[in-house]
Amino acid sequence: MSSTIAAPDSAAAKPDPAALCRFLDGEHHDIKQTVRERLADFGVAPPGEQLPREEYRAQVLEWMLRLAETGQPAMLFPESAGGAGDPGGAISAFEMLGHGDLSLLVKCGVQFGLFGGAVHHLGNEEHHRKYLADVASAKLLGCFAMTESGHGSNVQAVETTASYDGDASEWVIHTPTESARKDYIGNAARDGHMAVVFAQLEVGGDEHGVHALLVPIRDQDGNVLDGVRIEDDGDKLGLQGVDNGRIWFDHVRVPRENLLDRYATVGSDGLYESPIENKDRRFFTTIGTLIQGRVSVSGAALSATKSALAIAVRYAGRRRQFGPPDSSDEALLIDYRVHQRRLLPRLAATYAIHFAQRELVAELHKALTSEDYGDREQRQLEARAAGVKAASTWHATDTIQACREACGGAGYLMVNRFTALKSDTDVFTTFEGDNTILLQLVAKGLLTDFKQRVGDLNALEMVRFYGEQVMDQVVERSLARQVVGAFRDIVPSRDDESYDDERIEDREWQVDLFRWREEHVLGGVARRLRAGLDDDADTFEVFNECQDHVLAAARAHVDRLIVESFARAVEACEDDSLRLVLDKVFDLHALSTIECERGWFFEHGRMTAPRSKAITKAVNRLCAELREHAEVLVDAFAIPDAVLAAPIATGQDRASAGG
Ligand SMILES: Cc1cc2nc3c(=O)[nH]c(=O)nc-3n(C[C@H](O)[C@H](O)[C@H](O)COP(=O)(O)OP(=O)(O)OC[C@H]3O[C@@H](n4cnc5c(N)ncnc54)[C@H](O)[C@@H]3O)c2cc1C
Repeated sequence: MSSTIAAPDSAAAKPDPAALCRFLDGEHHDIKQTVRERLADFGVAPPGEQLPREEYRAQVLEWMLRLAETGQPAMLFPESAGGAGDPGGAISAFEMLGHGDLSLLVKCGVQFGLFGGAVHHLGNEEHHRKYLADVASAKLLGCFAMTESGHGSNVQAVETTASYDGDASEWVIHTPTESARKDYIGNAARDGHMAVVFAQLEVGGDEHGVHALLVPIRDQDGNVLDGVRIEDDGDKLGLQGVDNGRIWFDHVRVPRENLLDRYATVGSDGLYESPIENKDRRFFTTIGTLIQGRVSVSGAALSATKSALAIAVRYAGRRRQFGPPDSSDEALLIDYRVHQRRLLPRLAATYAIHFAQRELVAELHKALTSEDYGDREQRQLEARAAGVKAASTWHATDTIQACREACGGAGYLMVNRFTALKSDTDVFTTFEGDNTILLQLVAKGLLTDFKQRVGDLNALEMVRFYGEQVMDQVVERSLARQVVGAFRDIVPSRDDESYDDERIEDREWQVDLFRWREEHVLGGVARRLRAGLDDDADTFEVFNECQDHVLAAARAHVDRLIVESFARAVEACEDDSLRLVLDKVFDLHALSTIECERGWFFEHGRMTAPRSKAITKAVNRLCAELREHAEVLVDAFAIPDAVLAAPIATGQDRASAGG
């Protein structure tokens, strides 16, 4: 049955999904392809029905052990510890797990990425030699115990203590209050034998801030060790196959060597030494080293988003409802403009974030494998990781919901995947850094050189410093644009842009609007922070007053990073048939984002009514043009049918598709 609503006749040759897949995958195509096939081979399809919790946990553990046997997790670790020293490849492989059962993904993330990652990045060579091979083979199952019931986002304020007993050369790990119990810890309730515990270090009466230590929690037979108490967190909104739990420590003793001492050691003489003198800086350096987990979650969220889009787009290409009154044929959902509007801009944004993520992984790989990666680059990488993770996980939540609705009642059936996609990815916006907190980190990255200086500044100076840094950023950019002088010079006046419909097609114009918005919001934050300052200022209040504005600056920054990554990727595409469609996907992403933000652009004199209408018209036209390519765009995600699993997307449920 043919479509009854006329779709625009696309003269363009259809791009080859396999070629598009290779282009999307980039240098990690082979490993991604291997993992896709591996998932299908393992039968790692998300359950079509709810398994009892313990059965589900056992199934997820079994999958993880099988995965460990393939050697895939060892890619993450250094060659000296039996790994492949390929973090970029390992993170790309992990990203593919996001198409399958998300409890497996998170269980692997905890075991290899968080537990193994902490040993790798915070430990010394002896720790690597002793533990990493067993972590990679999943012989030693572990936890990453950072969060406490009382403190999640504010890790610096955790209360668990690690006090040094010089006579015994041991650390004493203790939970001093109920709010200090470790909480939500993956692998704790059932399987973990050891935990990396983040605790306030105390040596000879001196407090040195948060450090990480290896603490055994179960014996060989799985019995909880003396002094350790563990409780199951119970049922959760999703991720029921992961055994999250709470841990208490009652004066548990571990040897001196169990301190993961990359940034601070305690020698046999009992003296504490660190190459980083400033306590705050040491803390931020320690935490910064762990961004691998954040980057991994960001990639996994993208994979889940792609699964949702693949299901909804395919369903929309088969499902019919209503149609022209003079026809007996009903129309395909994908031919309705509103349906295109619901799915295609989100598909375009997924492409955009995909390229930002790919650049992020490449940069992280560089940071983790080069000897001379600089402090400044590291700070920028941390801010970028925070921003892309927030964007990717929020985008996942929004898109999965939109896709569920786009599949109507069929989308509500567990067998069609959205139950798991929604409930399992929901928490991605919270763990590995709550998104709102991460955007504040982005803003700090924009506004300050905080890693070197924040610890030396008191609160009032800090607010001033934020202001100065904003101005520095702005001035740096204005210099780059050869507009030297005052900040106001880089902000075009309300009437210096003549209306020109043609320009909205122009890539430079589009990207420049993202840059302009970022600069303008940053400048606005700077002015407000400065205006709020005088010697009597309540600095917390000043900063708090501007917090929404600071977050808006971070969002504008991340939007700009993403659109620039996408522009670079499209520019690098040498295949004409791919380029043609990628150009349209880019335009749709850029213009639909601008359309969403048009209220702001109106407020700031960069949008006129005719231009706003022209943008809406262009978005509609692009939706119509990309309708022809929608299936190819999702086919390029190359998710095997056995893994995608939803009958409405794999052709098994013909009845829902209308026969
Ligand atoms: C399923 C699951 C698995 C997890 N696994 C682990 C694990 O293996 N290991 C581990 O250590 N942790 C784990 N966590 C913990 C997770 O990292 C924390 O939940 C997360 O860091 C947020 O901390 P919180 O829950 O205390 O929220 P809070 O920090 O209390 O935040 C609550 C809300 O307040 C907002 N908020 C907080 N401070 C501010 C501020 N200054 N300005 C504006 N808004 C603010 C936040 O945006 C958020 O919306 C897990 C959590 C879950 C749910």
